[in-house]
Amino acid sequence: MTSQKYEQTRSCAKCGYEETRFLDELTAAFEETRAWSEPCSKCGSTDFSGGSNALPPLSSKQLEIWAINDELHFSQQDEDLILATPSNLELLLEFLDSPSTHIWQRRTLASALYILWYDAYPQTGKSYLQNAEFAEKVALEINKRTSLFVELGASKSEEFGEPLWYLSSYVREEFEKHKP
Ligand SMILES: [Zn+2]
Repeated sequence: MTSQKYEQTRSCAKCGYEETRFLDELTAAFEETRAWSEPCSKCGSTDFSGGSNALPPLSSKQLEIWAINDELHFSQQDEDLILATPSNLELLLEFLDSPSTHIWQRRTLASALYILWYDAYPQTGKSYLQNAEFAEKVALEINKRTSLFVELGASKSEEFGEPLWYLSSYVREEFEKHKP
């Protein structure tokens, strides 16, 4: 953990007052801990419009906390998409493979792995993310873990008629279609 501070801003929807504060890495990393719910310090309104969050790059320290705590989210929506940054690959694999990581977090990490492949694979990814060599590397890591994914419930469990990491079922379909 670095001592770097991450800037957060917000604007009051009622009086327009703009506020800025600085958070440490572990507070800024998670949606629940960076939530800024105190009322406007000028007019007391709790209605805010706009604002920004500087987010720290993923670190082992953040994952150590997140992996065993299902109350914390990097993002409550599309967390797998947030985690799927190519430079995160080694960290994602480390925590995916660790039996001490909570099953929901392992499923999110598995999903992020598929997204990394999808984004980098030349026939499925956006042009600026395409990287055939990296896609091949990720595919290798996915294929090595077939039995782990079954263990995590990939083929059995369903939610809303889709496999458990349903957010990326289109990614999994593409992966199976191209059989890398
Ligand atoms: Zn205000």
